[in-house]
Amino acid sequence: MKITVLVDNNTFIDKYYYGEPAVSYYLEIDNKKILFDAGYSDIFLNNAEKLNIDLAEITHLVFSHGHNDHTNGIKYLDKMLSWQFVKLVAHPDCLLQKRVGKEYIGPPPELKLLAGKAATVLTKKPYIIAENCVFLGEIADRNDFENRVPIGEQLRDGVWQDDFVLDDSALVCRTNEGLFIISGCSHSGICNIIEQAKNIMNEDKVVGVIGGFHLLEQNVRLDKTISWLKQQQINNLYPCHCVSLAAKAQMLTQFAIKEVGVGLTIKMD
Ligand SMILES: [Zn+2]
Ligand SMILES: [Zn+2]
Repeated sequence: MKITVLVDNNTFIDKYYYGEPAVSYYLEIDNKKILFDAGYSDIFLNNAEKLNIDLAEITHLVFSHGHNDHTNGIKYLDKMLSWQFVKLVAHPDCLLQKRVGKEYIGPPPELKLLAGKAATVLTKKPYIIAENCVFLGEIADRNDFENRVPIGEQLRDGVWQDDFVLDDSALVCRTNEGLFIISGCSHSGICNIIEQAKNIMNEDKVVGVIGGFHLLEQNVRLDKTISWLKQQQINNLYPCHCVSLAAKAQMLTQFAIKEVGVGLTIKMD
């Protein structure tokens, strides 16, 4: 398994990639080439080129959820690919329009067009992408501290309604050392996501997690998430994107975490 960070909020000193408050990761596993989220602008294309990654060769395009910081970049990839050879995997709600007040925060119209061209799998169920890689599907609520709160509204059957971002999902990879989980924003709760990954893979050992953990404020949810993560004894925690400095600082009082930036690669057999 090899993960390369194509887009993150952070960039590393002396490495001249572009950053933006968005997510895009490139994952190679079992001869599959997976693009997980596409960021907000076209910078993932630029960064991929500098990293010698040919996105025209991807076999899978997976979306963590429909928010524009994860999907909007897709409009710039459109012309590069023979879409009939690409499998697009996401929760069905990922295609719904989303807004906060008057601001549009959902996927670009191009995503629906691509879903028509690609071999598209829109599913709430777990979906096997490769022998050792599974899309987690809709995340079940498994604890009492990661309550879903609506983020704006989504347009369902012509009606705008509270958006609890049920489309928020993640990937899990099996490695020799344990499970490695790749998340987008973790609106569904990072602990819920990890539990679901363990459940689906029937394995308890988690070796690593990368992604936004959606921990911005210092509150009870953060406290409980940190004590839960501490119990899990995960050696490679990469909280990024939507994790505040204050949340990271609080984590560091309990366990080690690693820094994420564009160009970071993580390899595990
Ligand atoms: Zn989001
Ligand atoms: Zn996000």
